[in-house]
Amino acid sequence: MMNNKPVKGDSSKNTEALVYDVLIVGGGLVGTTLACLLAESDFKVGLVEAHPVPGMPALDDTPRFDPRVSALTLASKNLLSNIGVWEKIASLRIGPFKRMFVWDAEGTGAIEFNARELGQSVLGNIVENSISVACLFDRLKSFETVDIISPARVNQLSRFEQGLRCLTLEDGTELKTRLVVGADGAQSNIRALAGIEFSEFDYRQKAIVTSVRTSESNQATAWQRFLTTGPLAFLPLPTIAGCDQYSSIVWSSDSERADALMALDDENFKHELERAFECKLGTIEWVDRRFSFPLRSRHAETYFQEGLVLIGDAAHTIHPLAGQGVNLGLLDAAVLAEELLRARSRHVDIASPAVLGRYQRRRLADNTMMMKIMTGFKRLFGERALPIRLLRNTGISLVNKLGPLKNHIAAQAVGLGDDLPELAKTDFSRTA
Ligand SMILES: Cc1cc2nc3c(=O)[nH]c(=O)nc-3n(C[C@H](O)[C@H](O)[C@H](O)COP(=O)(O)OP(=O)(O)OC[C@H]3O[C@@H](n4cnc5c(N)ncnc54)[C@H](O)[C@@H]3O)c2cc1C
Repeated sequence: MMNNKPVKGDSSKNTEALVYDVLIVGGGLVGTTLACLLAESDFKVGLVEAHPVPGMPALDDTPRFDPRVSALTLASKNLLSNIGVWEKIASLRIGPFKRMFVWDAEGTGAIEFNARELGQSVLGNIVENSISVACLFDRLKSFETVDIISPARVNQLSRFEQGLRCLTLEDGTELKTRLVVGADGAQSNIRALAGIEFSEFDYRQKAIVTSVRTSESNQATAWQRFLTTGPLAFLPLPTIAGCDQYSSIVWSSDSERADALMALDDENFKHELERAFECKLGTIEWVDRRFSFPLRSRHAETYFQEGLVLIGDAAHTIHPLAGQGVNLGLLDAAVLAEELLRARSRHVDIASPAVLGRYQRRRLADNTMMMKIMTGFKRLFGERALPIRLLRNTGISLVNKLGPLKNHIAAQAVGLGDDLPELAKTDFSRTA
């Protein structure tokens, strides 16, 4: 078990359990970001993570990429910058994109977004998840007020009694806290232990992820083609040894088609991929190992109970087609941190339904809307009926010509909306 400080709460040896203000379960991007936000404000924080804490990756000129990447919005970048992590991530490896190009496989409808039109230098950044998480843990280790408890899994969760929740780890260690935060991903154990129900929509699709090198430059562009069997994205990976031809692939397809694609050898897979992408970036010269994930959206019926709250994928899991999952989770973390700080400054209990209810109110509408949009997109582009296809193509081309509407949609998608938490709105490290 790795800790910033030794854990004193091993109940087999010590009857006194450690007491935290906030105990976060799950050290993914969302949980570690919340831990940084709270640690900066002197909350006593525990972070329980099932896997060993990752070390900083040793990067060289070998084109080996993490198959899990995130398209981080400008809001997410601001947030990571404000907690002192972005600079490190950017110094290691990022794939900035200046342009997004989205088109319909069944017709001529296409839409293009440009950073210049929004007065920005980039629209977002493609970041390998393993790099972001390693940088976040590296930052966390610098805080005296954080205990990293890893590798460790939570086994039991008590009710809220005498103002505390008690968590028991698999090795019997007991940890006590005012507030448990479930940041343990789509299959959240904390959500299950708390008995929080969730609604589920099975897309009957799988996402295939891998990295490729194309014969042409990725053009610092995020490409997305909507096929009736699901969307295919080419996201620009960092330039390695002067080569800007690497892209990360997220190819969502109906499950049977995805299984068939996974079963192909590399040569045939490259061929199918070129066809599906209309050779927009030339031929596929190299393809890395492929992984596939079933796609389901899930939404918790409530984000909180007394002394317990859910954030990130534990609260909501969405289709990856617009690359918004992590970005929504990071906004959850920022809003929750804002509400906890506000409560503390007013001497209000951070575990109370009033405080956690405010967090839920501020995040629920945003998350629900994004989930509905993703499901709507999936249905709209899965439609084979000719009138719908015609309307769809005309609609896309029309929006592309309407500058203000197009820019409004783009601004929301890249994280330039008005109703953001303060730390996501502005990069204070630049304005200082
Ligand atoms: C194919 C695919 C592509 C995607 N692309 C994008 C994209 O481009 N942009 C984007 O924004 N989103 C994307 N997403 C979604 C994104 O990956 C998730 O939204 C994001 O990883 C959620 O972060 P999280 O920290 O909430 O959960 P996770 O990343 O799942 O982290 C949860 C953590 O909790 C730990 N844990 C789990 N159970 C326990 C336990 N019992 N005890 C202790 N620890 C535990 C896990 O080890 C893990 O570290 C994609 C998703 C998929 C499937």
